Amino acid sequence: MNAVLSAPARRPIRALPDELVSQIAAGEVVERPASVVRELVDNALDAQATQVTVRLAGGGVRSIVVEDDGAGIPADELALALRRHATSKIASLSDLESVATMGFRGEALAAIASVADLSLTSRPASAGHAMRVDARGGELQPAARAPGTTVEVHELFFNTPARRKFLKSEATELAHALDAVRRHALARPDVGFAVWHDGRLVAQWRAVRTPLLDDAGVQRLGDVLGAEFMATSRTLAAVRGPLALHGRVGRPEAARSRADQQYLFVNGRYVRDRLVAHAVRSAYDDQLHGSRQPAYALFLQIAPELVDVNVHPTKIEVRFRDGRAVHGAVQAAVQEALAVSRATQPQAGAAPHGEGRASTGLEPQQSVLGLFAAREPSPRWDRPAAAAGSGGLAAWSALYGPSTATEPSRGWQAADAPNAPAGLDAHLHGSSDIGADADAAGRTLGSESPASLRGRVPADHPPGPESIEWPLGRAVAQIGGVYVLAENHAGLVIVDMHAAHERIVYERLKASGAAQQRLPSQPLLVPVTLAATPTELATAEAEREALLHMGLDVAPLSATSLAVRSRPAALPDADLAELTRSVLAELQAVGSSRVVQRSRDALLATMACHGAVRANRRLTLAEMNALLRDMEATDRADQCNHGRPTWRQVTIKDLDALFLRGR
Ligand code: ADP
Ligand code: MG
Repeated sequence: MNAVLSAPARRPIRALPDELVSQIAAGEVVERPASVVRELVDNALDAQATQVTVRLAGGGVRSIVVEDDGAGIPADELALALRRHATSKIASLSDLESVATMGFRGEALAAIASVADLSLTSRPASAGHAMRVDARGGELQPAARAPGTTVEVHELFFNTPARRKFLKSEATELAHALDAVRRHALARPDVGFAVWHDGRLVAQWRAVRTPLLDDAGVQRLGDVLGAEFMATSRTLAAVRGPLALHGRVGRPEAARSRADQQYLFVNGRYVRDRLVAHAVRSAYDDQLHGSRQPAYALFLQIAPELVDVNVHPTKIEVRFRDGRAVHGAVQAAVQEALAVSRATQPQAGAAPHGEGRASTGLEPQQSVLGLFAAREPSPRWDRPAAAAGSGGLAAWSALYGPSTATEPSRGWQAADAPNAPAGLDAHLHGSSDIGADADAAGRTLGSESPASLRGRVPADHPPGPESIEWPLGRAVAQIGGVYVLAENHAGLVIVDMHAAHERIVYERLKASGAAQQRLPSQPLLVPVTLAATPTELATAEAEREALLHMGLDVAPLSATSLAVRSRPAALPDADLAELTRSVLAELQAVGSSRVVQRSRDALLATMACHGAVRANRRLTLAEMNALLRDMEATDRADQCNHGRPTWRQVTIKDLDALFLRGR
């Protein structure tokens, strides 16, 4: 038998030498140059630096130097700073529970020093000169330096060749290190950052000094993430439950194939959190197709007692005391920010930094021609006292009435389906009662969309349904059997009528009582079996009721497999194994209530597609105008249920440019 496999002779228990303990700890804290950069910049920020400079050589493997202008370390504490579990940031357990600094474990410098050459040069403002200590030698020497601290790290992993082998190319390590600084830069717009590599400046973000931290944050977001992110995202600012949230969320149509632009900060610390990521993604559910990934930068503030930051050696993960409350709050806030549809907004340009803020209704339109024309500020809008009933609107009902009311007969709750969509009632009945109209809008909008976010029209001259005063203007023609053309203040509006109608029908179905019912299911002649993990098996058993509610009869078949015996009747073509797995994953992550809602939404979206007006259907002008007015009153009207845009603006400026006018 191989000697390696035989049990080793027992050794006596011994305390490990300090150096080895540090090296073991370093295994957790220092994975690559980027981890060193992160820890050192954390320290600079904890020392109240206003300018942080990072100098890298050889991707950071050869050397990493971080300079700051922070508070510095007194000479008599320099050696202590390098000791394990020595920190100035907490002194007791209660400090730990309300920690406000980036660091607190007192192990970063010691860990780094155990796997690289490290020296520390520091000068508090009150000291006449700086002092320097070498981690290896340990003795102090006077040095020259302005107030602040410099940490130099050379030859990372020189003494642990096995780990050095895990490092990637110089370019990759540099990219990771840059990413680390980028995260800090996003969190701290008030601090200036510069990154040098092999003597060249590779990134620089100047400190943003404005009295309003929000403005600074927005500006820094633009500096770090770029103009495209700003142009395709909207501002989010909300206080919900235990959370205050702000940041920007990308528009669904700007979603990406990779999750490479998702930044989440909890109390100023960049973290990865599956719960919050899931909450954000699910807010996009019915606007984003399958695997598309939204871009976002979200900053969460929560009372320190409600979040544990000491659950991961590198503090990249946190644990919320009430995860569900956080999930709900994040999801609702993102949903709300996305729901403010551009179609319901006035066209205006004067937003600070030339970018839009959903909360104030100043979202810029991205022009089809790719020209960012400056927009004239336009009057504020108001929902008029219900658009006076015009004969043509009755014809419009032919589009809606039968389609939405009878579509549910595919096995859905026909009895509970609305006879006519809420918003349309008011039009059809020619109601001039503002209350009724507002109520109708309210039903379409869902719970918390304040009327103030809707378009506004000066009350003294409410426009007719075919006026250019409306955000989407008045219809002038239909072309290609698909597109409705309209004229508004800014110029030409082009609407994909099927996509737009699909969204309207879908939002109405969602709002209707039909959504409350149990989904009809269809038994399978031959059960579908799928391999399952122990977690999936446990979830299937625990959430059997919720699954049945969604039309899925799922039961364990063996210790490693599940059988699906019925499927939702309205989803005849879905890949059942895939559907079941993702439903189980969500049930496990967020519990039953939310998933039931999602699955309903998916089914409703399918129905809405069938219920929406088909291409090549000729519309009258009155029908077209009714469609435009309904879009203005519908949440998320900017995208169809598959995330495609429903309308575009071509400005007069765009047209002028096309014809080389005014040059
Ligand atoms: P922690 O940050 O968890 O306290 P570190 O090992 O990163 O642990 O740092 C140890 C101590 O050294 C810190 O608590 C702090 O007092 C001091 N220190 C480290 N870097 C700096 C710096 N750039 N400026 C001022 N003090 C620093
Ligand atoms: Mg630290």
